[in-house]
Amino acid sequence: MAKSHYISADHDKTYGTFVKNIREDIGRKVKLHTLGDEKNCPNCLISSVDRTSAGIFHPDTPYPAGVPGPTSFSGGRCPVCKGSGHYVRNIVKSILCHIRWKDAGSGGNIKSGSPTASTRPCVTTDSKV
Ligand SMILES: [Zn+2]
Repeated sequence: MAKSHYISADHDKTYGTFVKNIREDIGRKVKLHTLGDEKNCPNCLISSVDRTSAGIFHPDTPYPAGVPGPTSFSGGRCPVCKGSGHYVRNIVKSILCHIRWKDAGSGGNIKSGSPTASTRPCVTTDSKV
């Protein structure tokens, strides 16, 4: 009969505390760049027919933070969405990580020291991304 092993809530909490302490002691801040949701362009009027830019300057009020503009234009393409009618903001988060290096050529074993050409980062964080 196979012996079952369970991780108790206390062991899980202890593990989480140790990992958190390691991250705080030797971790480093890493900037994570992700893309936000696609939104209608706040700089121009959106055509109700094909949901692209109607080519008319019509800024949202209030204008959302983190989007270039409002930039006035007359005729031609909207300088913010380039005529697509949509805009995706870049989101940059700074998160505390513990970075180890896995050797891709040896079954994913962890290496100490500096990364080499055959190592890949293994990042541990408890930040919600
Ligand atoms: Zn636009």
